[in-house]
Amino acid sequence: MTDTMKAAVVTRFGAPLEIQELEIPTPGPGEALIKTLYSGVCHTDLHAAHGDWPVKPTPPFVPGHEGAGEVVAVGEGVTRLAVGDWAGNAWLWSACGACEWCETGRETLCPKAQYGGYTKNGSFGQYMLVDARFAPRIPKSVDLAAVAPILCAGVTVYKGLKVSEVKPGQWVLISGVGGLGHIAVQYAVAMGMRVVTVDVDDAKSRLARKHGAEYAFNAAVEGNGLAAKIKEVTGGGVHGALVTAVNGKAFPQAMGALRSGGTVSLVGLPPEAFPLDIFSTVLFGLTVRGSLVGTRKDMEEAIDFFARGLIKPTYTVQPLAEVNDIFDDMIAAKIDGRVVMDLQH
Ligand SMILES: [Zn+2]
Ligand SMILES: [Zn+2]
Repeated sequence: MTDTMKAAVVTRFGAPLEIQELEIPTPGPGEALIKTLYSGVCHTDLHAAHGDWPVKPTPPFVPGHEGAGEVVAVGEGVTRLAVGDWAGNAWLWSACGACEWCETGRETLCPKAQYGGYTKNGSFGQYMLVDARFAPRIPKSVDLAAVAPILCAGVTVYKGLKVSEVKPGQWVLISGVGGLGHIAVQYAVAMGMRVVTVDVDDAKSRLARKHGAEYAFNAAVEGNGLAAKIKEVTGGGVHGALVTAVNGKAFPQAMGALRSGGTVSLVGLPPEAFPLDIFSTVLFGLTVRGSLVGTRKDMEEAIDFFARGLIKPTYTVQPLAEVNDIFDDMIAAKIDGRVVMDLQH
């Protein structure tokens, strides 16, 4: 092992990331050192690098929370991971284990949580530290580049679908068939849900049908008749909806497509607020629910669906050196599916 590694570093908000030579960190008690082979690039990494959110990371830092690789060293007291294992990092880098949310199976809401690539250096480096209690374990049977998008995009939509409370055989609407949405369609089908999608791009609708959506509507074509059309084909409306789109119209569209008692689950993070039609929310008993990534257990389940060959993310591989071009493409909405960076070449 060499003493230094390459990493993409945010030196100040809004500036291009710098590829720097950093010292390879040493795992402390409870930590493991992972040689990162691949890392997905998430919109959150872009928001982190721009300092867009109210609670900001502190530059300099290394973004990235979809990293997958091999454990090369473990710190004192680590039993859950061993050298040679495959593992990754995640947005939920760690949680305290002792607060009311940790104690009730909702560790993603822990106020003392640490975040991968945000409050802790992440996977845009050739090596990274993880909390061995929280690092996702990856079976050796999978393709490490392909599994990377599961570690944030996959677990996010999987948990979002779970909390939509749609049961097998019931209808779910997936709004937006982009990086998150095309994976969501596959999870929903694998979970036994019947899928309707909405996008504004016919190519995305074809992709949704390929992955098992029974109906794929173009919101730009259907216009104001969209909700009625969805209600017609689903016999009264969808039981739940997952909004991954960051388009301002997606939220009211999803609410309008629900059947009575339905739930809209939000996982996208658009900058705007949305008006809520209180009358129909009350009259039809609708629920709006936010969902943030997933717990360790959700992650294990999400990876298991992938390992069984049920989820095939669309992705392209690019080298770490192109990180700023990848961000530019993300801003210009030019990315199809996910970009996964090759950290070692
Ligand atoms: Zn993410
Ligand atoms: Zn906690």
